[in-house]
Amino acid sequence: MQVALDDYAWAAGIATDLINTTAEVWRGDDHLPDQAALVAFTEEGQKARPDGRGELPGLARRARPADLVAVHALRGTVRALVDHPDRDNLVVGASALTSSAGAVTLVPDPVRERRTRWAVSLREGATVVDALSVICGVGILGVVHTLDEERFRQCGAPTCRGAFIDTTRPGRRRYCMPGLCGNRTNVANYRARQAGKPQS
Ligand SMILES: [Zn+2]
Repeated sequence: MQVALDDYAWAAGIATDLINTTAEVWRGDDHLPDQAALVAFTEEGQKARPDGRGELPGLARRARPADLVAVHALRGTVRALVDHPDRDNLVVGASALTSSAGAVTLVPDPVRERRTRWAVSLREGATVVDALSVICGVGILGVVHTLDEERFRQCGAPTCRGAFIDTTRPGRRRYCMPGLCGNRTNVANYRARQAGKPQS
């Protein structure tokens, strides 16, 4: 499996989705409790990839129980980086996440015919943990390099404990899960305005 280095927005999206699967963010249920959930997570991630291809779900299907434990630990490592977005900290921490990467290579560009993109290959025998780790590392390094460390933020919903990496062009993303936390905040604001209105 290869991870294209200019796919950093996709990779940072995987990192954001991964850290927001924890029981802490959901205030109850862990959203990656077992291998089936991990397979579903990687299938969603694969679909979001520009070429829609890759071996991530296949690696997740071969995951052993220890791999799931390691994925849970990886969430903590990535979350700690997002929570402390100091440039040196991000670069050192994200580089360490790429330690399962093997050779740097070129892969066909899915959009432009006869063109190639820079990519890193995973080492032979890499597990789903290695793959997710490299993806998170590439995502974080790409955002620091192309955007800046101000893109690592806490969710703007007052009651949410999520965090995210903003890869939008304007850089004004506010919520870890825009569909969920953004809507919740809008509903709360609407109710607050209604409560403040004089009764008629
Ligand atoms: Zn949130």
